[in-house]
Amino acid sequence: MRLKHIKLSGFKSFVDTTKVSVPNNLIGIVGPNGCGKSNVIDAIRWVMGESSAKTLRGDSMEDVIFNGSAVRKPVNRAYVELVFDNTDGSAPGSYAKFAEIGIRRELTRDGGSKYFINRDRCRRKDIQDIFLGTGLGPRSYSIIEQGMVGRIVESKPEDLRVLIEEAAGISKYKERRRETENR
Ligand code: ATP
Ligand code: MG
Repeated sequence: MRLKHIKLSGFKSFVDTTKVSVPNNLIGIVGPNGCGKSNVIDAIRWVMGESSAKTLRGDSMEDVIFNGSAVRKPVNRAYVELVFDNTDGSAPGSYAKFAEIGIRRELTRDGGSKYFINRDRCRRKDIQDIFLGTGLGPRSYSIIEQGMVGRIVESKPEDLRVLIEEAAGISKYKERRRETENR
């Protein structure tokens, strides 16, 4: 699976529907202070199920919805969609057959989050399952934010182990075992 593009609408400063293409495996986002670089990263974490408003640099989850500017009124809905190319069929389980996989989360001011995979309503867990063991996820090491290298270096052995297990691809088996044991 490879991330092809990100679509944002009503999310933080991206009030109008905006498509961000990801042309190669390695990208950088550059631009002046306050132009929305970190908001794009917040959007990626959010759609993958991040549930902490603080991690998304807000006070409450509603803060991800565009809350107006000098020239624009606030909006009532935010959505973010990640579109992955899956022509290599590497998506897990029944998703392997799709050439493209769209993962979407939306939030309205009056309601909770809704999650979708290829336009079908799903649970937050279904989205987490797709990414488990891939190194991509709302808190994964594939998003290295400011201060994170220092935190990894100074982390406790137990926390470091979680990171290494995810990188080695064994965390998904541990998660399945935990689920089976709890049944
Ligand atoms: P820097 O280079 O300083 O790190 P950046 O490009 O990462 O900047 P962001 O933090 O992504 O910038 O964007 C900050 C902008 O997003 C601010 O102008 C802020 O007002 C705006 N913003 C954040 N949340 C919302 C919201 N809910 N509604 C409207 N605008 C928002
Ligand atoms: Mg920033």
